[in-house]
Amino acid sequence: MEKRDYYEVLGVSKNATDKEIKSSFRKLAKQYHPDVNKEPGADQKFKEAQEAYSVLSDETKRKQYDQFGHAAFDQMNGGAGYDFSGFDFGDIFSEIFGSSFGGFGGSNYSSRNRRQKGSDKLMQINLSFEEAVFGTKKSINVTSSIDCDDCDGKGGHGEKTCSQCHGSGVVTVEQRSLFGSFMSRSACPKCNGAGVIFSSSCKKCNGAGKINKKSEIDVTIPAGVDTGNQLRIPGKGDAGYNGGPNGDLYLEFNVKSHEIFMRDGNDIYLELPITITEAVLGCKKELPTLYGNVKLTIPAGSESGDKHRLKEKGIKSPRGNSIGNMYVILRIIVPKKLSRDQKKLFESLDKTDLESGTEFKKIKDYVNKNTK
Ligand SMILES: [Zn+2]
Ligand SMILES: [Zn+2]
Repeated sequence: MEKRDYYEVLGVSKNATDKEIKSSFRKLAKQYHPDVNKEPGADQKFKEAQEAYSVLSDETKRKQYDQFGHAAFDQMNGGAGYDFSGFDFGDIFSEIFGSSFGGFGGSNYSSRNRRQKGSDKLMQINLSFEEAVFGTKKSINVTSSIDCDDCDGKGGHGEKTCSQCHGSGVVTVEQRSLFGSFMSRSACPKCNGAGVIFSSSCKKCNGAGKINKKSEIDVTIPAGVDTGNQLRIPGKGDAGYNGGPNGDLYLEFNVKSHEIFMRDGNDIYLELPITITEAVLGCKKELPTLYGNVKLTIPAGSESGDKHRLKEKGIKSPRGNSIGNMYVILRIIVPKKLSRDQKKLFESLDKTDLESGTEFKKIKDYVNKNTK
């Protein structure tokens, strides 16, 4: 089944504000939440809206999506698309359904037992001009944290249930204030909310439960990326906590400039030097493009700065829906050194009346006025 556009799912325009996106998601969540709506298909609609919201409400992910479409999230995920399981909907659901709403992590005390997504990582990747234009496959080395294999990510050995909180990780404390006393729940100070204590701390990870591991991953870089573009590789960031999903890896590209081509978005510019006589008399030139050589006819009477468009000889956009043009900009090179013969030719040319246009007349009129 064709995946629906995230903007379409939320029923907002491509340039919707964060506020519009949030309010549209709230409406859909209220309508399709499985606790509220038992109709068949509602569950699917709810999930679809959750996915769309988790991408469009995140500035970085939204940018990626605008750039690459669903392909932005297909990497390394077997084409399964974006995985939003690590997204924290707690705030928005408690906003919609009230703070008593359960099941979506709306707890008001912080517990170390809470499932938490690992940190994202950002890596700079250098690409040659051609790699960026045509796409490439690369093996990259990443160092990310994983669960310590010595202690299974727990940070210690000899696990015992905490005696103060009896394993819940939470203690109830009576607090006194001017307005009387009240009970509040907070993370257990003895076990820091873990519910367990260890007889010895793990030496391999120094009690952190995580160790760094180097790994090599293969990534496919789509054609058409440019400097500053980011590509998200799901699940290749740091390991999550308490069974939470891994963070993501972001690759940010830095594209080297080309020897003769200049790039502006999906368009390519080539500055073409021509001689004075080629400009005056016109000529045919063989030129390189990204897709092989082409012949360009330069008409007689060309000037420096004249622009010739080679349609669709530019860069294919990463979304694959458009292709840029190539522009050839003429630059007339005035010779600095002339042979005796060439000099004579120019001198005899100067005796002919080349100043035929009106461009010269205005200036001459002023010169004549001043000398009178
Ligand atoms: Zn405890
Ligand atoms: Zn360990």
